[in-house]
Amino acid sequence: MTVHDVLNPATEQVVTTVPLAGLDQADAAIAAAESAGPAWRAVTPADRGLLLRRFAEQVDSHSEELAQLEVANAGHTIGNARWEAGNVRDVLTYYSAAPERLFGRQIPVAGGIDVTFKEPLGTVGVIVPWNFPMPIAAWGFAPALAAGNTVVLKPAELTPLTAIRLGELALDAGLPEGVFTVVPGRGSVVGERFVTHPAVRKVCFTGSTAVGQRIMRGAADQVKRVTLELGGKSANLVFEDSDLERAAATAPYGVFDNAGQDCCARSRILVQRSVFDRFMELFEPAVKNVVVADPAAESTEMGPLISDAQRQAVRSYVEDAQEPVEVAFRGQAPQGDGYWYPATVVLPGSTSDRVWQEEVFGPVVAVMPFEDEADAVAKANDTAYGLSGSIWTRDVGRAMRVARAVEAGNLSVNSHSSVRYSTPFGGFKHSGLGRELGPDALDAFSELKNVFISTDS
Ligand code: NAD
Repeated sequence: MTVHDVLNPATEQVVTTVPLAGLDQADAAIAAAESAGPAWRAVTPADRGLLLRRFAEQVDSHSEELAQLEVANAGHTIGNARWEAGNVRDVLTYYSAAPERLFGRQIPVAGGIDVTFKEPLGTVGVIVPWNFPMPIAAWGFAPALAAGNTVVLKPAELTPLTAIRLGELALDAGLPEGVFTVVPGRGSVVGERFVTHPAVRKVCFTGSTAVGQRIMRGAADQVKRVTLELGGKSANLVFEDSDLERAAATAPYGVFDNAGQDCCARSRILVQRSVFDRFMELFEPAVKNVVVADPAAESTEMGPLISDAQRQAVRSYVEDAQEPVEVAFRGQAPQGDGYWYPATVVLPGSTSDRVWQEEVFGPVVAVMPFEDEADAVAKANDTAYGLSGSIWTRDVGRAMRVARAVEAGNLSVNSHSSVRYSTPFGGFKHSGLGRELGPDALDAFSELKNVFISTDS
């Protein structure tokens, strides 16, 4: 068995060492999940809901411990980490109501009765990235379990600690062995095995578009279901009639949250030319005031990047870029140990610049002017991605026209909010396939069965 040193990204110190599962262990976890399936499916809907509520209670009573683990493992600010643990609890509570509400239909037909059932798929493999280890895990496992599936979950190599703890809390809550199993391991080993193992009937993947494409290709061999939540390059559109002060004051938090390592980061800001200079004047102090410091401190707003490799990747868009990039201004960042990188605002020369087109996944935002509504929409849609975006305007008609025209799954008007457990989340174009969260996520973890019963005598 190989092991992985888990580092604290704020200090570069080893937090702990985690054994990585090999193929045999992945197969054993999948076999255990498969054999736990029939009994889990037979648990009455009310009891399955009760077990999920107990799991939510366990998460709630350990939320500070989970949050502290995420600060140490992922460098998340303590404020964010507490929200993330609370989100796991809320997602579990929300879907704990689902087993008793997995309604089918009764469809009028000739000669009998026709009814539909939502059947579990079997074993679901959930593959999680390092940027939001807790919530993204829960968005997969909670509805999957509620719909009667068993789950094997692979956390990212860099951030396994909260997932491992959630696996323990599930057992403490009374979920039977094998119903929810966390399998830390490499993507190329455990993740690939979820794709190739015939007993895994669905892969719910969140991560990069390149790996998502590979998973989709692999899943085709077994006609395996997939949900893909992939990358983003979302636009923040600021119109001249907006509350410019608020738009500028909030823009840093729309992109620099989690040090920009957020699939929904509004990493392209488009500002109507007539107010461009004024916006930049207001935006500069807002960026410089973002508190970048020890993520464990209560006042910190932005922590470090996850790894040195990620910092190098971010630098390749700014300092080490092949094409010259104009830096408008930057914030502060601590010096010394830790994978720090300052909040950075760049002015690309062209919409074909790498920093304008590619997902940086770090605290770098590119700003560009637009002329009118049509130009704003065209520039917003000039990307392979389509995950989220924001629209700042006081004109309700414009807000709705633009929201309908932007090719993205999650838009917010006069706000940067993307995620609520009760509303659907997912991407257009290369940002993914399928939707998580909200009332419809259960359909992604169920097969629809139709049964006709003849009433002929
Ligand atoms: P990644 O694709 O490198 O890894 C994601 C997960 O896939 C990890 O657990 C990894 O071990 C696993 N993996 C890697 N290779 C695999 C393979 N061949 N088969 C199966 N699994 C494999 O992504 P990352 O760097 O961890 O995360 C960052 C990316 O995730 C960004 O592109 C970001 O936009 C995206 N993301 C998307 C959403 C969303 O909801 N749309 C949310 C968060 C992050």
